[in-house]
Amino acid sequence: MSAEELKSLRSKLDEINVELLELMTKRAEIVTDIGKVKAKIGTKRFDPVRESQMLEELVQLNKGPFSDDTIRHLFKQIFKASLDLQKIDQQKELLVSRKIKRTDTVIEIKGLTIGGEEKVIIAGPCAVETYEQTRAAAEKLKSLGVRLLRGGAYKPRTSPYDFQGLGEEGLQILRKVADELDMIVVSEIVSPNEMEMAHKYIDMIQIGARNMQNFELLKVAGEANIPIILKRGLAATLEEFLFAAEYVVSHGNSQVILCERGIRTYERATRNTLDISAVPILKNESHLPVLVDVSHSTGRKDIVVPTSKAALAAGADGIMVEHHPNPPVALCDAAQQLNPEEIENLCNQLKPFLR
Ligand code: PEP
Ligand code: MN
Repeated sequence: MSAEELKSLRSKLDEINVELLELMTKRAEIVTDIGKVKAKIGTKRFDPVRESQMLEELVQLNKGPFSDDTIRHLFKQIFKASLDLQKIDQQKELLVSRKIKRTDTVIEIKGLTIGGEEKVIIAGPCAVETYEQTRAAAEKLKSLGVRLLRGGAYKPRTSPYDFQGLGEEGLQILRKVADELDMIVVSEIVSPNEMEMAHKYIDMIQIGARNMQNFELLKVAGEANIPIILKRGLAATLEEFLFAAEYVVSHGNSQVILCERGIRTYERATRNTLDISAVPILKNESHLPVLVDVSHSTGRKDIVVPTSKAALAAGADGIMVEHHPNPPVALCDAAQQLNPEEIENLCNQLKPFLR
């Protein structure tokens, strides 16, 4: 074959490549339109029956030289790339996305706002243990200007032998103390069955890291009319985190606050690894308020001040931190709960960051 022939054949190939590209682009446009129709009528993106029919029709028409398997393989790649296009298209339309709502969501609760101009501190013991313990923590916090009182009554503990929380009795204590001191109750529930009862005692419901993908709980939270603090799962990507929030919002409750609480990595210097980059990414991609839990992410009291400052400097709408009147005797997370002096120091140090 002469060099001239090779050149001419190659130029034919180039033309065919361009034709293929044009056809693929044309196909992609139709696929994108189909994606929109599917989203509108609520049909699943992937239809395995339709895909196998298309492949078999193509194989019937195959005259070679490619084997039937090669034809199946090549077209499967095209189908997959097309499905991915529909994915991007549907993702653009997540209700929690900034593309859908440009302005920040501001959650109002008893005269306090989260996600607006002011930054908040949510603090309190890991678990409600007694009335006296909860009241002492709350009094200290109130004196420091903190109104959002956290405390666990349903504790999702790693070991079944560890303190599991006081349950409804714990919520009753929290409510009583919060009413006495005009504070706002933040507490976790772990089961969809607890939602109705929780409304009696809790002002803002927390869904913990271990339940970030408890979809039945997320759906029930979506049907409730109460702000939800959704914590990032122990090993959840930000995409998974936002999808979890989407469950709540798409079921009707737009009052969702995202809380970064550290993720599992190989690093053992901290309990989890605080993913500070999650803050600006979530703020950019979503209109929902973002908090950082500096206690569970680090598990250490000695770095709560710099990590809290970092969180607020990165754009977080507030922080969550554990405070116990007497941490050495705490029934859970004793090592990370701040004592009265430490919480006071933290609040003082954060003053310049709180507006
Ligand atoms: C908590 O805040 O009490 C808690 C258990 O946190 P997480 O779900 O982030 O572990
Ligand atoms: Mn804790």
